[in-house]
This record gives sequence, structure tokens and C-alpha cells, in this order.
Amino acid sequence: MTAIILDGKKTRDEAIPALIKRVKGFSFVPVMTIIQVGERADTASYIRSKKTFADKIGVEVRHIQVPEITTQTELIDIVKKNNEDSSVNSIIVQLPLPANIDRDSVIDTILPSKDVDALTAFNVKQWSDGQFGAILPATARGVHTLLKKYNISLNGKKAVVVGRSALVGKPIAAMCIGEKAIVTVCHSKTPDLAKETLNADIIIVATGKPGLISAEHVKAGQVIVDVGINSVAGKLVGDVDFDGVVEKVAFITPVPGGVGPMTVLSLFENLLDLCE
Ligand code: NDP
Repeated sequence: MTAIILDGKKTRDEAIPALIKRVKGFSFVPVMTIIQVGERADTASYIRSKKTFADKIGVEVRHIQVPEITTQTELIDIVKKNNEDSSVNSIIVQLPLPANIDRDSVIDTILPSKDVDALTAFNVKQWSDGQFGAILPATARGVHTLLKKYNISLNGKKAVVVGRSALVGKPIAAMCIGEKAIVTVCHSKTPDLAKETLNADIIIVATGKPGLISAEHVKAGQVIVDVGINSVAGKLVGDVDFDGVVEKVAFITPVPGGVGPMTVLSLFENLLDLCE
């Protein structure tokens, strides 16, 4: 039997009218400042997709691009100016940053009330502790919304999260704990990955390793959420061997068209939450 596709693109598009309505309810145009250091092609493409979505729902994106040679002090000054600018509702410092800049020092300059990525130490503590009303990083929120849309409950289920990064794996694991799943987090030092994934009801993969999860890692009835976005021979693929597992499992996200669109949707839901 072929798996049901968890369609992130359709879910995102269906959410647009409600977002437009929320934006129209404000007496101001919500503003998201995106600060980009350097000219990485993947970063530029993520920013383009945010701008396209912002245009659709009536939000303003202010894109500030500074050269790779920008110093940490200069970058922090830009963040501070946006903190002080009352017309700016949210600030993103696009990661990764050049090696000479300390990520945490820059991120922690963002006012928590404008931290739409939920990466400042204050906000990390909020979502790690499962505080009511905490802003969750967009990918974790997107996975949550997508599972809900398809009536997939995490409550009492065994969830295996593969990847433990600060931006993706950890917030997803925190989201699963918040939903009362029984959570295992795997990483590059997990000795027998298949042993862990075969024990799961839901597998969420965020490693950046194309094809890491294959037929031998999955079994019938499982839900597979593939967060990975990798470019292989000019084609976008996930961390899951989609063709190898799609006949075996119950639900699966495609790449592209799965978690990616949900992340963009969730980022703007976070922005509107900050504005309220
Ligand atoms: P990182 O490189 O920061 O983290 C990767 C994680 O995967 C690490 O925890 C690492 O383990 C783990 N890992 C690496 N190799 C293996 C392995 N062989 N077995 C098990 N675990 C392994 O990546 P990110 O978390 O930032 O991103 C992960 C993927 O998600 C990327 O493809 C990225 O492009 C994508 N992404 C997609 C988004 C979306 O909206 N769909 C949004 C953001 C990211 P260890 O900690 O031990 O090193």
C-alpha cells in the first residue's frame, strides 16, 4: 500500500486566507526585518521564498544585506537599530553567520519580543520549558501544524527525532515532548539507527544527509516526516529515500512540498502572534 502524502504546500496555501484576514485586522503593516551577511545562494533562496509569501499576505519584509567582511560590532548595531525601530515587529538574522562572528552574541541582541525565530536564550528557555504561549521555532511549529492537519496525534506515541540541532532537531523534540510523545533523539553517534527508528510510531528526520533513512529503517504503519532539504545533482531531495519507503509506511512528507512550505507559513504565524 502506498503512503498518504502529508502535503505541506496544500496545507500552507489553504492557510493563506486566514493569515490575510489576521493581517487586515491590524492598524499597521507588520514588518519583518531580515539581516543577511554575505551572499550564500541557499540563504538568498530562503529569503526569496519568505518575501514571496509576505507579499501574498500583506506583510512587509525589509531585507538588509551586508558584506561578508561586516564585523560583529557592526552587525550588533544593525540589530539594535531594528530593536529600537517601533515600525519593526520582528527581526531575523539569517544563519549561518561567517566564522568570525559569534552567533549567540548577535542573536541575543534581538529583543525577545521581536525574535520570530525563537532563538534568543530567553525564548529558547520558554519553549524548552513548554511555557504557555511560547513562540516555537518555525520548522517545529510547521511539523506540529502539518501533523494536526492530518489528525495525527503524538500523544502517547513513540517519536524518534533524528538530528539534535539548536534550530531544528531540539525544538522538534521539545514540541513532541509538549504533545506528550515518548521521545528519543538520535544523532551522528547513535550506534544502531535502524534499531531506534524501527521502534517508532513517528520518525522525524533533520540531518542534511540525503537518503539516510531507507527501507531498512522503517516498518508498516509509521509516519515519516522528512525535514531535510538537500541539493543532489541539481535536484532537491530530503533525508529519506522517498521511493524506497513510500510503499511501506502509512504517511510521509515529500521533498519538496512537505515541511519546507510549512516552515515559511509558521514563520509568518509567529510574526502575527508577536504583533498581537
Ligand atoms: P545540522 O547540520 O545543524 O544538524 C544535523 C544533525 O543531524 C546533527 O544533530 C547531527 O548529529 C545529525 N546527524 C548527522 N549525520 C547523522 C547520521 N548519520 N545519523 C544520525 N544523525 C546524524 O543541520 P540542521 O538541523 O540545521 O538541518 C538539518 C536538515 O534540515 C538540513 O537538510 C537542512 O537543510 C534542513 N532544514 C529544513 C528546513 C525546512 O523547512 N524543511 C528548515 C531548516 C533546515 P550530531 O549532532 O551528532 O552532529
